[in-house]
Amino acid sequence: LTKNNKERGKKMKQPEIIVLGAGYAGLRATIRLAKKTHKQAHVTLVNASPVFVERVRLHQQATGQNLRQLDLARLVASVGADFVQGYVTSLNLNARTVTVRTADGERVLSYDKLLYALGSTIDRDSVPGVREYADVLTPERSTMLYAKLAGLRPGSPVVVVGGGLTGLEAASEIAENYPDLAVKLVTTGDFADKFSRKGQTYLRNAFERMGITVQDNTNVERLTADEIITTQGNIAYAVVVWAGAFAVAPVARESGLTVNSSGQIVTNHMLQSVSHPDVYAAGDAAQILDFQPYLRMSCQTALPMAATAATNVWAALVGTAQKTHRHSYAGSNVSLGRNAALIQVADKNDRPLEFVFTGRFGAMIKEYVCRFAAHVALDDKYSFVWLPGYRPQYTGATREAEILSLEAQ
Ligand SMILES: Cc1cc2nc3c(=O)[nH]c(=O)nc-3n(C[C@H](O)[C@H](O)[C@H](O)COP(=O)(O)OP(=O)(O)OC[C@H]3O[C@@H](n4cnc5c(N)ncnc54)[C@H](O)[C@@H]3O)c2cc1C
Repeated sequence: LTKNNKERGKKMKQPEIIVLGAGYAGLRATIRLAKKTHKQAHVTLVNASPVFVERVRLHQQATGQNLRQLDLARLVASVGADFVQGYVTSLNLNARTVTVRTADGERVLSYDKLLYALGSTIDRDSVPGVREYADVLTPERSTMLYAKLAGLRPGSPVVVVGGGLTGLEAASEIAENYPDLAVKLVTTGDFADKFSRKGQTYLRNAFERMGITVQDNTNVERLTADEIITTQGNIAYAVVVWAGAFAVAPVARESGLTVNSSGQIVTNHMLQSVSHPDVYAAGDAAQILDFQPYLRMSCQTALPMAATAATNVWAALVGTAQKTHRHSYAGSNVSLGRNAALIQVADKNDRPLEFVFTGRFGAMIKEYVCRFAAHVALDDKYSFVWLPGYRPQYTGATREAEILSLEAQ
């Protein structure tokens, strides 16, 4: 869509931009593209689920807390984009098409530019028995986990496997909501070894206070219907919550895009696939070649990547210069139930510093960060005002009304 083409008038076919995945990255990219293109391109968002669920709050859903569910079709229609609900099964990179399995059968969508943001999910295939016996924090399964937890007898053993952020948040949320259950966290390395000394000490004390036992330096070999078989002996469970590593969808690898050993699309510094320049990628599903810092799968990585990728998709179509992606980390936040959190401050390369915020003040910061992440995804804006105890107010007046009215439905 060069200047000349624009001048040729409205008869010219609009370029087709397809965004795959409506997580934090895909949603932000769609909103940005729809706003930037001013209807000079046709933007379509494809996602398996019809609603946007805040993934960073799934441990809250697993303990019976209601999460808002925003209708994606209405949300993207409010900025002039289209929505297709369906499961992306393959890409044809030569024909530039995406095949989507929808409720009405298979659809093949054509694109000029593709923005791939299919994110990640918990890996359930690397350890035998996980797929059959473990519960996981996904939008579909968190509610089932809640039903199981709510039905357990006092003293029942609930084991969370995984000492990363997801495991720490899941174990503490369950312990806070079900103090009568015997919650245990099992992890391969040393407990909380990614945190500063202050952070580790705080987490250890918080877990002790909540009655969560920790078994670290333990490798899980497989699960049976009632036991976890580990290098340190067997652990009986009533419910096991698997919070191991994240895995990405196989679509990119199977379609022939260049991917790394984790299956993430390898991009250049403009977030353009190194093998297929019409494809851009952002979020958990992407990794930039030779980039510092190493991009950790997280919202704080996904949201800025989405902004760069969307900006560059449009720049490529109109023939202007593309932006080089830049990224600095600020730290990581771990909720410990609703009343405490650890805010671990880090340097720009994501190395933890001996500087933490904890307790109720930490919980306030963590809540703010979660709201902020959703706000940026939904509105592609940073402007945000929040006062403790008050509902967040979106400062963009028109979008505020739209988003809040969608939320109410
Ligand atoms: C319990 C929990 C707590 C977390 N806490 C934090 C935190 O505190 N801070 C933080 O930064 N990060 C946190 N994370 C990680 C964070 O949620 C992810 O890094 C982030 O969601 C990545 O965003 P994304 O848009 O790349 O992908 P995702 O959010 O995974 O979105 C991908 C979207 O694509 C869809 N999709 C996938 N495959 C297909 C397909 N084949 N067809 C159609 N649609 C498909 C999915 O349904 C989803 O809607 C947490 C994760 C979990 C599970």
